[in-house]
Amino acid sequence: MDAPGSTELPVPYAGQFIDADVVCRCCSYNLRGLYPEGRCPECGTPVGISLQGDLLRFAEPAWVEILARGIRFILWGIAHVCQFEVWYVLELRGYPL
Ligand SMILES: [Zn+2]
Repeated sequence: MDAPGSTELPVPYAGQFIDADVVCRCCSYNLRGLYPEGRCPECGTPVGISLQGDLLRFAEPAWVEILARGIRFILWGIAHVCQFEVWYVLELRGYPL
């Protein structure tokens, strides 16, 4: 069991070799027959990373920050369009701000 507050993620199938077709997240090498504690023979990425799934919590933090920046930009754009629409409707009805 992990210590409280530990940021270390558990490696699925620890101690057992991989008996299914799982591709490396970085180079798409088939990791079947390797141990989760090992590294991809093609690119050196830890095998356990490819077993974690596609959830954002397992993604590279720099990439998640780029996604967050894009979402903030989209929300900022939506807010400004809404603000313009309110201003435009009020101007049409003769209620200047
Ligand atoms: Zn690889």
